[in-house]
Amino acid sequence: MSKPEQVDVVEHTESRKPKFPSLASLMEETLNNRDNGLGDRSLYFGASEILSCEEAMWHAKIRKVKKRRSLKELIVLLRGNIGEALVAEGLGEAIFEPQVEGKGVDEYDFIKSHADFSVVVNKNGEKIIIEVKTTNSVPKSIRESWFSQVQVQMGTLKIKKAILFAMNLNTGDYEEFRLTFNQTVFENTQKLIKEKWDRIHQPDYVPKGECGPLCASCSFKLECNTLKTDKKLPDEIAEMAKRLKEIKKEQKLLEENIKAFMDMASYNRAKSEKHDVIVDISPRSGYEQIDFVKLRFEYPEVYKDVVRRVGKTTAMNIY
Ligand code: SF4
Repeated sequence: MSKPEQVDVVEHTESRKPKFPSLASLMEETLNNRDNGLGDRSLYFGASEILSCEEAMWHAKIRKVKKRRSLKELIVLLRGNIGEALVAEGLGEAIFEPQVEGKGVDEYDFIKSHADFSVVVNKNGEKIIIEVKTTNSVPKSIRESWFSQVQVQMGTLKIKKAILFAMNLNTGDYEEFRLTFNQTVFENTQKLIKEKWDRIHQPDYVPKGECGPLCASCSFKLECNTLKTDKKLPDEIAEMAKRLKEIKKEQKLLEENIKAFMDMASYNRAKSEKHDVIVDISPRSGYEQIDFVKLRFEYPEVYKDVVRRVGKTTAMNIY
């Protein structure tokens, strides 16, 4: 039997080489350089940034620091696109426009809003805005930042009604918040935005951020002045804090999965003798509460007058 020619062996080896050395690095590169259609965000104040950390804004808009994101961060960040695609498909035959841009006027011309959809709702051509949010915990009442973002979208696009659709892509939980344009809220929010915009543009501005859960995924963590003033944790304690952070994350995910199963099976209570565990989901009766978002934006004077900080306690947050 004749020996195969050397050239065949070389070709065989070549054909086994993967086409992409690493799909993850290709994705990271492509997604970091994608055009998200929002233009240069350092030149305007986006409606979604109303309650963003001021120091992070200063690094991005004034220092114009551009940061690459890891693929892990990009996957989390771009979940919103999946939610939008789902809603677009669900709109079926409706006449709609995606990514609609609104702009502030006169002294507010640096404000821009990008609503996910504007949808024609009747024969007169009346439109509503639809804004989509993906989140790991769908709240029962609208978050303050979502509320003010949609009010600015309605104000700049001159559309009177909106729906904010929040969904959890892991569990399928969702809430639909219906909003009506409120001129007072719009004006007060624009004023707040202008104060922030003017502040970060002052030449002697000393950045002052707001530490919170967003710090964990913030691109400016390493140069953050706010965090620099923090004390250093000894390694041993830092490891404990890191472990606790992971446990809390896992706990949240486990709770979501168990609840999703109980919902699907329509169980209130179920047990496993093998694992010595009982899961009990007891319905709680609702309670009355003040709508702080409405109070703050629609009645700012009353808000200042009646809201007090009481009962000073300590709370441990780990980001
Ligand atoms: S790390 Fe936190 S405080 Fe610092 S810029 Fe980022 S979000 Fe703001």
